[in-house]
Amino acid sequence: MERYEAVVVGGGPAGSMAARKLAENGIKVLLLERRGEFGQVVQCAEGISHQSLSLFFNPNPKFIASVIDEARFYSPDGDYFTVRKKGVGYVLERKIFDRYVAQTAAEAGAEMLTKANFTRLERKNGVWRVHFTYKGRPEVVETPLVIGADGPGSNVGKQAGLRLDIPEEDYHHALEYFLVHPAVEDGRIDFFVGDWCCWKGYGWSFPKGGHYGNVGIGVTLLPEGETPERYLQRFVEHYFKGARILGFTSSVVPVGGHRLEIYGDGVMVVGDAARLAEPISGGGIPAALVSGAVAGEVGAKALKEGNLSKSRLKEYHDRFWEIMNRREYELAYEVRRAFLRMDDEDLRFVFKKLKPLFDGKELDEIDAFKWAKYIFTQAPDLLLFAAKKMGPSFVDYLRRTVGI
Ligand SMILES: Cc1cc2nc3c(=O)[nH]c(=O)nc-3n(C[C@H](O)[C@H](O)[C@H](O)COP(=O)(O)OP(=O)(O)OC[C@H]3O[C@@H](n4cnc5c(N)ncnc54)[C@H](O)[C@@H]3O)c2cc1C
Repeated sequence: MERYEAVVVGGGPAGSMAARKLAENGIKVLLLERRGEFGQVVQCAEGISHQSLSLFFNPNPKFIASVIDEARFYSPDGDYFTVRKKGVGYVLERKIFDRYVAQTAAEAGAEMLTKANFTRLERKNGVWRVHFTYKGRPEVVETPLVIGADGPGSNVGKQAGLRLDIPEEDYHHALEYFLVHPAVEDGRIDFFVGDWCCWKGYGWSFPKGGHYGNVGIGVTLLPEGETPERYLQRFVEHYFKGARILGFTSSVVPVGGHRLEIYGDGVMVVGDAARLAEPISGGGIPAALVSGAVAGEVGAKALKEGNLSKSRLKEYHDRFWEIMNRREYELAYEVRRAFLRMDDEDLRFVFKKLKPLFDGKELDEIDAFKWAKYIFTQAPDLLLFAAKKMGPSFVDYLRRTVGI
């Protein structure tokens, strides 16, 4: 039976990054991807901030569809305000980006198989047997270290005995069209709210040049009998009436990974498999890249030390949360919980408070704590509102965390 020092399951950004870091550190690693090509199926609006992308990559025009200079925020009634920051982010061409990340793993020396569908794990004397089908035929390899990068429907973590279940309210049900419509403006991303169109979530328009763009919604805890598709229909009919639709995709984005153990003896899970996407936006590319890279680096060190125990691999968890700023993630998670309890009247109230603070503003930096502090000191009514919605302990938490 073929033996590898590490096996990574899933060739999205998280898995390719993990395989790359392992290979760069001289580890014999196998990357398994069930699709026929890396980047073949991408379920994503493809937005990423400059700050996050440039942690690992130069913004290469090959995989960038649009450079973002502006963001527009809509109220449930269609009023809006606009903020600016030149080059704040990008809308990627993820089919190309994902393939590019996979290429960097191959160049570093990772072995990779496509049409390789992971099926199950067995553990014998501290070694994993990784079962998969390759072009439909059953295969098995041995390894002391498995990294699960198999996306939101992850099976690796479960098979390894990690407890990765999250409550239903921690899932964004995200679906979108790739469409063309004059309201999609190159260089500007738009965000929409309103229970009528984006139930307990938000809508987006992310441009990809020439009025083409990803237009979709993320919704949570839908009312009985409703479907996400019906909301998407309503949303597009209203804001993008007459759009020509060229594609559709849907999936879930799980969040709340800060409350989970994302590592165990000889195993780590990364990216969506570890439920690490940013809680409010559901943006998961940055966490996928960072968690993959950190897991790859820690895995390589642990292999060299001959210690793949759970306590050794905890360094993955600790370093990830240091880089991604656990306090900021927790704040976002709590704000999302409050957001889920808001209706359109609440959203109108919040919008009315935020518009005068931000409309036409040129942002100097993107810093969650700085802006939260600014908002609550300039609009203290929002603290009273938060107390009404979530209780006084939530406001104490906000005051402590934001520093007001
Ligand atoms: C509609 C929508 C819009 C989104 N928009 C954004 C956005 O604008 N910005 C952002 O940052 N995030 C966005 N996200 C979230 C983002 O797409 C994910 O967080 C990100 O792709 C996670 O990367 P990953 O590598 O963990 O998982 P994935 O990208 O899902 O990769 C997992 C890989 O594992 C493979 N795999 C799965 N099972 C197996 C198996 N059994 N064997 C072998 N391979 C397997 C899959 O084929 C896939 O290639 C969006 C998500 C959705 C659904």
